[in-house]
Amino acid sequence: MRIVLLGPPGAGKGTQAQIIAGKLGVPAISTGDIFRANVSGQTELGKQVKTYLDAGNLVPDEITVAMVKDRLAEPDAEQGFLLDGFPRSIPQAEQLRDSLTDLGQKLDRVVELVVDEDELVRRLSGRRMVVDGKEVQRDDDKPETVRHRLGVYREQTAPVAGFYEGEGLLSRIDAIGEIDEVTGRALRALGVEGEAGQPAGV
Ligand code: AMP
Repeated sequence: MRIVLLGPPGAGKGTQAQIIAGKLGVPAISTGDIFRANVSGQTELGKQVKTYLDAGNLVPDEITVAMVKDRLAEPDAEQGFLLDGFPRSIPQAEQLRDSLTDLGQKLDRVVELVVDEDELVRRLSGRRMVVDGKEVQRDDDKPETVRHRLGVYREQTAPVAGFYEGEGLLSRIDAIGEIDEVTGRALRALGVEGEAGQPAGV
């Protein structure tokens, strides 16, 4: 299965991506995670993208799309994948469609996690990651940057849902509730039975 998980920062994309991809047996590909790993590893790519991440702005499409293309060409993505955090703009969505067409592939489904903005601000401001056994706040989860990221989402990423709606691929799900309830809704949207445990027939 080839899936895109859409949703604003704080909607739980990363958490749901890991769980859903695990159940479906496909790699979860998070552009944010790849960028962050490159920033902390101080790679050439990391140096190029750090200022965008710190400011909560989108990394330019040429960099992001090239990186995703390389990742999708790896053998583990041949039979399917779940994209988390990509595409985040209409040009990225168009270029993903073209790249998949070149590979003779297409997306099966796009699931949008819907959460209202007050709840997002609450979740992001309280969010912590565990790094080397310690709880730390992501630099871009500071309140000013959170508000900016939500603005970027509204302007540049929210239209991507409309793009996929037009292609007949979009399922919107309510992403408020317990993690496994939201997973269940996502799996039903993907047409996968048995949300409590095993995926059936995938
Ligand atoms: P995330 O972990 O998905 O919240 O992404 C963290 C940051 O990585 C974003 O605020 C952007 O700076 C950058 N980023 C992640 N995915 C993309 C993308 N598809 N296009 C541009 N920038 C991205």
